[in-house]
Order: sequence, then C-alpha cells, then structure tokens
Amino acid sequence: MKDLKELIRPNIRALKPYSSARDEYNGAEASVFLDANENPYNAPNNRYPDPMQRELKNLLAPIKKVKPENIFLGNGSDEAIDLVYRAFCCPGADNVVAIDPTYGMYQVCAEVNDVEYRKVLLDENFQLSADKLLAATDEHTKLVFICSPNNPTGNSFCRAEIEKLLTSFQGLVIVDEAYSDFSDAPSFLSDLDAYPNLIVLQTFSKAWGCAAIRLGMAFASKEIIEVFSKIKYPYNVNLLTQKEATAMLRRHYEVDRWVKSLMEERSRLIDEFMALPCCEKIYPTDANFFLTKVTDAKAIYDYLVSRGIIVRNRTTVALCRDCLRITVGTRPENDALLDALRNYVG
Ligand SMILES: *Cc1c(COP(=O)(O)O)cnc(C)c1O
Repeated sequence: MKDLKELIRPNIRALKPYSSARDEYNGAEASVFLDANENPYNAPNNRYPDPMQRELKNLLAPIKKVKPENIFLGNGSDEAIDLVYRAFCCPGADNVVAIDPTYGMYQVCAEVNDVEYRKVLLDENFQLSADKLLAATDEHTKLVFICSPNNPTGNSFCRAEIEKLLTSFQGLVIVDEAYSDFSDAPSFLSDLDAYPNLIVLQTFSKAWGCAAIRLGMAFASKEIIEVFSKIKYPYNVNLLTQKEATAMLRRHYEVDRWVKSLMEERSRLIDEFMALPCCEKIYPTDANFFLTKVTDAKAIYDYLVSRGIIVRNRTTVALCRDCLRITVGTRPENDALLDALRNYVG
C-alpha cells in the first residue's frame, strides 16, 4: 500500500476540522453546560449528541472484537461510502474500480463526486478475479470496491482472491459486508491489523433489523478512521439513533435468533421456489435474499405488484437478464409469494 498521506486528497490532508463545543469540552463531570447555545429546556433532546459516539463504540468494540479507535459510525453505510470518495478521490482526476454487478451506491457516489468509476464484470458464476480488477487499476486508482456477500447476486467471494487484492493493490480496498451475518464465510474484520489498506463496511440495516435508524459501521486502521472523523458532519449520528443502537446491542442475542430463522426460511423458500414453473434457476446465496432467473422478469414482477407483493426486478443489471432479487421475509410473507407464483400463468 502507498503511504496513507499520499492517498489522501491534499485539501483533506491540510484541513483543520471544525471543532464543536462538545469536541472542545468532553470531560464527564460538569453539570452546567452553557457552551453550545442549546436550550436548557426539553431534556434530553435539547443537548447535542456525543460527536464521537463513545458509549456506542465501547459497546460495539467487544462484540466486533476490534478497538473503539478502529470504528467509524455514520448515517448508514452510505455515509461511509461517500466519505471514502471525499477523503481519497480528487474529482476529475482519480478513479475507482469495482466489480459489476454490485451495490448501486458505489457508482452513484462516484458520479456525485465526479470520480471515474471503472466496472469489472464478474464471470458467469458471479465470481471475481483479482487479476482482472488489478488490471483495471492505474496510478490514479484510489479505491477498489468489493461487496461480499454481493448484492444483487448473493454469493460470497473467494477469500484468497480478496487477499490477493489486499496485498497487491496500492490503494484502499473496501469490503462491504452488509450481509455477512447471513454467511458462514468469516468476516475480514479480524484481518484489520494484517492489511492497513482494508476498510470493512457493515450496517445495522439488515441482520440487526434497524434500517430505519440509519446506522452504518466502517472498520479500518486508526489512521483511516481519523480521516473519516475529521471530515464527517460533527453530529452525524443523532441521539435517538445512538440510544436505539445501544439498546439493540444490549440484546444482540435477538439478532442471532432472527438470523437463524431467516436462514431456515431461506432454504425452505428456495426449495419451494425451485419447483415453480416460472423459475428457471436460483443462484447460490449467502445473504438474506436470493437471485432467481425466471421465465419473464417484467411480467412476473408486474403480476406480483398486482397482488400486492413487491420484489426487486434486476433484469436491466449486467449478467442479470430476467432475474428477480427476492428478500426472505417471515414465513407467512414467503407463503404469500409462493401462493401467488403457483397461480401465475405465464
Ligand atoms: C443494504 C446495503 C447496505 C446498507 O446501507 P445502509 O446505508 O447502511 O442502510 C450497504 N451495502 C450493501 C451492499 C447493501 O446491500
């Protein structure tokens, strides 16, 4: 990996961050706060939240087996995705490389930040090749995006290929593990010390059942986390979100139960789905959804909408012609889907 200082945009390297009242005073034992122009009434929502989310990070660190200094928390993983562009990619000059197909936000953020986005097609089994990704990089490539398990294909990638990328690529490798709770493949979280150019993304939006509170996690070296902290909005995670996440972390055993029952439902749903006349193929999945090739994605999508059931039509996505992406729901929800499809005449 290049020196981190070389990878950071020069303006960000030189930036003196905004220092909020809660940054300048963060001792615990004061009782009169007249420093932040807050309203003294309407507690607790009158006070600015902790800009560094210390309590939450301290609870999260042992669960994730990392140090609090290796954690960034943001307004969804989407905030972390945007921040890597803003921190490392000079608009109009730098580029990033990503697998294709994958999660759409990497490209949207590239375009918003005026950064060239280079797509490298997966093979017909939706696997990636580190060599192909490396071949697409040049001296202006700052980031490589990998999503494993991948959205919308559902599969995890070969660990050795990702490791090859981490050792050979001179910039940063972002491994998005939004769905890793549903996979038996080990997370890259335990490899943070081995790879200084690794950024792992996870989220409260999927297995944790908290999409509404908007809380995403990025895990990386202390130096990379400090860059994120320097450029983020001072109070990027609001108090209600911090509180709800804290409560959720205290009952994280529930997440294990949800994951277990969703994985059981996933295999039942897939078995039943394969027997449907409209189903041509189901791709292997490590996530809480699966991708299926059907006889006519648009017609089936429209038919399901008319029955009040919404799935994701991925037919226009690379390698996904006539494919639907189906999220695993509750047993009754999955049964409603199966019932509707048994009555579909194509
Ligand atoms: C759902 C998803 C996320 C989560 O994004 P949030 O902003 O945290 O809700 C991140 N990455 C991928 C690949 C996803 O599918």
